[in-house]
Amino acid sequence: MSLRPQNDPEHQSKSLHKTDDYWCTPLIRQLEKSDLPDRFKLTRRLRNCAQYRRYGLNSGKKPNYCHLRYLCKACADRYAKRVALEYATKILGLMIQFGLCPFFVTLSPRAENDLVQQLVQVERMLNKIRQKRKNHFSHGTQFTEFCRFLYAFVILEVKRTQDGQLWFPHVHFIALNPLADVRFNLSDLATEWRMVSESEIPPHVKSTTAGKLFRRCQRSDSISEDMKGKIFRDLQRIIQYALKPLPLCLSDQIVVHSAMRGTHRYREWAMPKSHGQFHSSKV
Ligand SMILES: [Zn+2]
Repeated sequence: MSLRPQNDPEHQSKSLHKTDDYWCTPLIRQLEKSDLPDRFKLTRRLRNCAQYRRYGLNSGKKPNYCHLRYLCKACADRYAKRVALEYATKILGLMIQFGLCPFFVTLSPRAENDLVQQLVQVERMLNKIRQKRKNHFSHGTQFTEFCRFLYAFVILEVKRTQDGQLWFPHVHFIALNPLADVRFNLSDLATEWRMVSESEIPPHVKSTTAGKLFRRCQRSDSISEDMKGKIFRDLQRIIQYALKPLPLCLSDQIVVHSAMRGTHRYREWAMPKSHGQFHSSKV
């Protein structure tokens, strides 16, 4: 941001056309054809963002990013980097403070053709699981495999199925599980997920490099600054992966932008009170 060229009007008007072509003209054309009530406002924001990123503003003015993270790749990347930095720091802190190991878990609901309806259903599924987990920790009700997620960073991703016919929103978790605990019972986890979602795709649970490195340090009871850096970078990589710009065609990008209004791309499932400090939850 520091190297902003002078706003030479002649230079700008000649190059702006190229800038728009490069950054967003096909999307703007598509948006103008759409029936979104605020399509002209959106196209203005996208143009201003492209112009700002290319040329900067006169000194004293504020950055002019569009923050349209389902439409603008540059803003999607900036968003992913910012969130990854914030939450990799937080997750590493929780791992060290409470001796927790991160797993990468993916829950896949059934693919359908109505994205708006599906996102409502995914929210319901997540709320059901979260409520059961909360009831267990607060009121001692039945244990579910999701109670092994002592803390979870939850990220929603929207894709098309491979044949491009159906929408496939799915949920990634970085789930923190106590080092001393048994890991997940995959068969119980699959049964619980099927009961909530009616999906035949079982949860996918993957160890993480961050977790493997952390276990190694715990055995030797020491964690160096260098090792913290390695774990931090792996957490950052995972979060950025889950928040990557969605690989969709232009018309699908517009559908997702519209459908995701009011839906959080990420949220946290906080640590329960019974396990030390209570961490605020952003839902
Ligand atoms: Zn932008």
